[in-house]
Amino acid sequence: MKTIGLLGGMSWESTVTYYQFLNRMAREKLGGLHSAQCLIWSFDFAEIEAAQASGDWDRATDMMVNAARQLERGGADCLVICTNTMHKMAGDVEASVNIPLLHIADATAPSITENGCKTPLLLATGYTMEQDFYKGNLKDIHGIDVRVPDADDRTEIHRIIYEELCKGEIWADSKQTLLEIVAKEHEAGADGVIFGCTEIGLLVSADDFSIPSFDTTTLHARAALKFALETG
Ligand code: GLU
Repeated sequence: MKTIGLLGGMSWESTVTYYQFLNRMAREKLGGLHSAQCLIWSFDFAEIEAAQASGDWDRATDMMVNAARQLERGGADCLVICTNTMHKMAGDVEASVNIPLLHIADATAPSITENGCKTPLLLATGYTMEQDFYKGNLKDIHGIDVRVPDADDRTEIHRIIYEELCKGEIWADSKQTLLEIVAKEHEAGADGVIFGCTEIGLLVSADDFSIPSFDTTTLHARAALKFALETG
């Protein structure tokens, strides 16, 4: 089995999901006492969030590149950035190491396409919903044209992610807010929902929606395990 290098702690609430899912899938696939062979670099998320919020993306990139190199030196055979937002510097991270980076959008797109979704709604941080690094990947590489919520809804989703989900706080009111946003966007043409933040699956699940949903956390972890079991 190959060793999966996880760039995690962004936040650790969702890194837990990656770790559990990887290990459970490894046991399902291989049986017995098998589990996923992995290394986890877990950031102090306060430092990452401070760099993001102040727009110091160079600092954030340096931190990510340094951690990626440490994972490579430690024996990782691939890199998994356990957050959608920090794929903003995926190119720099990938260029800094000699092991492959398994991009979260590449792991998510096939499922969207297989379900026949053309205009899925993206639920994510403000950075991911508003900047081009993620939507552009889905459009340019995978031909998927995502919708994003309106400005007020984006602000509220961003707040829920950083002030609640990344602190492990799960509130019924916030779940209701997400359900209402998705219902509104479904009316307006969204034919699927991308959980484009690795903590969104802590608040809602596929069962909450009448349209297909795509949880980037589990799809990404699945792609990582596939790599670990099938490569080399
Ligand atoms: N985990 C989140 C994401 O998938 C947000 C936290 C972060 O900024 O990394 O985008």
